[in-house]
Amino acid sequence: MNNKSNSKNVADPPRPVILYIIGEGRSGSTLLDMLLGQISGFESVGELRFVWSRGKRDNQRCGCGAAFNACDYWQSVLAAYETMNHDLAFEQLAERTVIGSMNKFPFFYMADRFFPAKKDIQNVIKSYDDLYQSISCETGSTIIIDSSKSIPFGYFLAKYSRFDVKFIHMVRDSRAVTFSRQKKKIRSEITDRVEYMPTVSSWKSSFKWLSNNFLSSIVTLKRPYIRVLYEDFVCKPQITLNAVSEFLDVPQVKFEGLVTEDNVAQMSVHHTVSGNPSRFNTGDVEIRLDDRWRKEMPVMRKRLVTFLTWPLLKYYYTK
Ligand SMILES: [Zn+2]
Repeated sequence: MNNKSNSKNVADPPRPVILYIIGEGRSGSTLLDMLLGQISGFESVGELRFVWSRGKRDNQRCGCGAAFNACDYWQSVLAAYETMNHDLAFEQLAERTVIGSMNKFPFFYMADRFFPAKKDIQNVIKSYDDLYQSISCETGSTIIIDSSKSIPFGYFLAKYSRFDVKFIHMVRDSRAVTFSRQKKKIRSEITDRVEYMPTVSSWKSSFKWLSNNFLSSIVTLKRPYIRVLYEDFVCKPQITLNAVSEFLDVPQVKFEGLVTEDNVAQMSVHHTVSGNPSRFNTGDVEIRLDDRWRKEMPVMRKRLVTFLTWPLLKYYYTK
């Protein structure tokens, strides 16, 4: 169970703030999620949108190392959640469609605006709100960090959540993201077989980078958000932490001392549902820039990604 404060108050259910990390994958969101989760009152839950598929159904490993259904933390959170009369089949369907699928997003976006399906979408968000509330109830944390990054989820959450939703838009150089996506990486949360994280072509990676970052900018438009560049974060994490602190406007919370001057964080266990395999790293974790793409990425591939993503890459990195 969580070693942070554990104040349950059933009569007056908590109203947590949702700190939602949006953007493209492989951009350092797992690391930032876990680092913020080190702060008292902050809860790092990884990519919560996968709780029903990768968690409950597939029983993949929680960030603590236990199989999801054997993790005490999730057992008690889900026990609190189940008292709110939820339908697991509905939630699993919702995870695959409404909040998880970019391909179906235009359909649900239109349905939400013009058709009666609106109620279903609101119910999906209500079910996640109940889950956030159960986490807050069980842990006493008032800020839940969700690094789901899904555009549809972020969009509907901002629109229908009964809680305050604040965004961190995480951006990393498109060439670094593509290089990372093209390396073979074992998914260590799967223990009954060897499975690799999917690799993609430079074309597809560039398109995903462009669309996910562009849509993240649209979703966060006129909403509370802060943009964090991966390169800034890993080179000077304390400056990023200070910026997040100012953004959240929580002067009573201490953001100092999470990283040493040598950029080492003392990372404790977090019960993250899904995310980069680095979420299993605990103890002394060095935060450092991974820019191997500069030397190891084939020149033509580098040029192609630069060409395809140039306008947005220039926009993010020349300001
Ligand atoms: Zn766990």
